[in-house]
Amino acid sequence: MSSDARVAVVTGAARGIGRGIAERLGRDGLHVVVADLPVMKSGVDETVQAIADAGGTATGAEVDVTSEESNELLVRAAVEAGGRLDVFVANAGIAQVQELLEYDTADFEKIFDVNVKGVFFGYRAAAKQFIAQGGGGKIIGAASIVAFRPFAMLGPYSATKWAVRGLTQAAAMEWAEHGITVNAYGPGIVGTAMWDLIDEKLAAKNGQQKGEALAENARSILLGRVSVPDDVAKMVSFLASPDSDYVTGQTMLVDGGIQFS
Ligand code: NAD
Repeated sequence: MSSDARVAVVTGAARGIGRGIAERLGRDGLHVVVADLPVMKSGVDETVQAIADAGGTATGAEVDVTSEESNELLVRAAVEAGGRLDVFVANAGIAQVQELLEYDTADFEKIFDVNVKGVFFGYRAAAKQFIAQGGGGKIIGAASIVAFRPFAMLGPYSATKWAVRGLTQAAAMEWAEHGITVNAYGPGIVGTAMWDLIDEKLAAKNGQQKGEALAENARSILLGRVSVPDDVAKMVSFLASPDSDYVTGQTMLVDGGIQFS
């Protein structure tokens, strides 16, 4: 790794969108700290290897984003690995498909713990490091199209993503004086393990075959296809780069022009 490489942390990077973002930032020349739950170690190792195979540099790390201390240790590990921190991507998230009347309270708390508290702790740990370094830095969070329009049977999940959108705006306001930009990305449908789970549950609820919900939604995407992680990673690459220096407080949709009926 070159000594002046910018350093990025990506949470939830063992698979899916997080892996796509980590690989893209690696190709952009950043040193990437690939972080996920300890149980996802093999996925973390694969992401690190994929970045190395493409000529980049990366370090694997453990994090449970629901713990503030874990986020702070992650930032410390990134600074130890790369000497500084330039970009923090709070990508980790979970989804659950359930009608509101049947939603279990413990599940409701869990989804807010990961998707909202997890993002808040990540944003705050990164901001503290950026301020200690003298300012600057880019914070990027995972929102969703459902941060603008809720999706049937994804009520609490949608609420967490509206929260990320709001937190992103508030953080942008508070930390602009330190030269920190804070933005979020809002994917539509990305063909990952998370969407597989959503598709399966929607199909079961609606009496459809697995894959039918995905196909139905794909018909309502103006660009005619479900997205892949790299579609989202291109937006994150922009938000992580100096090209986005005059952009803050935004949730950038990358949804192929999805339409809701
Ligand atoms: P995914 O389930 O494939 O991957 C999520 C990753 O987050 C996993 O590697 C998982 O281990 C990790 N993770 C979960 N809980 C964690 C925790 N407590 N600490 C650390 N890591 C944890 O999901 P994905 O589709 O890649 O989604 C990534 C992000 O994009 C999520 O925030 C998701 O809500 C959002 N998103 C996804 C879609 C989609 O269609 N797939 C659409 C909009 C937004």
